[in-house]
Amino acid sequence: MRRVLVLGSTGSIGVQALEVIEREPDLELAGLSCGSRVDEMLAQARAAGVTHTAAAVGGGTVGFDAELAGLMDATAPDVVVNAIVGAAGLRPTLAALERGLPVALANKESLVVGGELVRALRERTGADLHPIDSEHSALWQLLEGIPPERVASVAITASGGPFRGRTADELSDVGVDDALAHPTWSMGAKITIDSATLMNKGLEVIEARHLFDLDDEQIEVVVHPQSIVHALARLTDGALLAHLGAPDMRAPIAHALAWPRPPVPSLSPFDLVGRELTFEEPDTECFRCLALARQAGRDGGTAPAVLNAANEVAVEAFLAGRVRFLDIGALVERALASVPGEPADSLEAVERADAAARDVVRDAVDGRRPGAPSTAGVGA
Ligand code: NDP
Ligand code: MG
Repeated sequence: MRRVLVLGSTGSIGVQALEVIEREPDLELAGLSCGSRVDEMLAQARAAGVTHTAAAVGGGTVGFDAELAGLMDATAPDVVVNAIVGAAGLRPTLAALERGLPVALANKESLVVGGELVRALRERTGADLHPIDSEHSALWQLLEGIPPERVASVAITASGGPFRGRTADELSDVGVDDALAHPTWSMGAKITIDSATLMNKGLEVIEARHLFDLDDEQIEVVVHPQSIVHALARLTDGALLAHLGAPDMRAPIAHALAWPRPPVPSLSPFDLVGRELTFEEPDTECFRCLALARQAGRDGGTAPAVLNAANEVAVEAFLAGRVRFLDIGALVERALASVPGEPADSLEAVERADAAARDVVRDAVDGRRPGAPSTAGVGA
């Protein structure tokens, strides 16, 4: 039996992780954590017969950190699923790796914000990190067994989100409901907005760099509206390998949790006949978040932490109807220009950058600074 601790159990990935644990005969739930939906988490715990739980609500970050550490120690899991959303997931990832516990990682922000810290800890403790993000799971499966020197580059696909093909003009007054209407995936609100701005793909480029030790130029982003091909690998001899599958997150979750044995068969055979698979270049002029993220990744240091924190606050403000869709990119750009970069060599350094970026965006949204955007829009 492999005992699994699920952090962020009340979210989109968390709920699907519980389904996977339920149907995989070798997996057993060890404990749960959530943010604020405590009643839902307790119902999940009762249904699965587990008693170990923790909630972030009310405790503040420090209190929750201690509770999570206690949860990891009390449950002694064989693997930790990190399905928390946002930079709040970084400390739990570090806490698990610190204990030598393998992490099945949905929380891509851990790698965006603290990629260097996570890599150093993995090296020191030897703890495994298995991606749940579908593109990265696909790359993991594609690259397994291929010597790194044979891999020339990789490509990750983006659906393009609900606004694929729109001009900046057409995006100026899109609403929250329009942005939440993702064409192919059903996910939590934050990542759904990130998919609409293409920030998600930018975060995923940084995630892939840390997971597979790749340079920015080795990662291509291609828009593929059908979301059937998740990732591709170009080998040095010109061969191109692709990973295909229906857009269902339970597949990569099961792969990460069952590894190294195969998950129980659960997918109906994928029918190729009659499928149309198309690929386009992303429009980074209109969807600036992708370009901003790639630049932050190339700049390195604390720039990705600034990018991520600014994006989290900007997305929250958009979801609350306080800024417009195109303001998200403008606010992120403002934070990147305002917060000086530092080496990301300590948790304190990345958390300082994260806090400074949040301040810049909050001030801009609240209009406390001269030249701050109004809710009528930031413009370019
Ligand atoms: P959701 O918003 O659906 O769920 C987030 C989970 O995190 C909830 O359980 C929530 O608790 C918990 N949480 C929120 N804030 C905190 C906090 N400060 N401390 C502790 N727990 C917290 O998100 P998703 O499931 O969509 O995404 C989770 C992660 O997986 C993200 O990093 C996302 O990028 C990644 N991912 C998601 C995919 C998807 O299909 N959804 C696909 C690929 C990656 P509560 O509900 O109780 O507030
Ligand atoms: Mg993804």
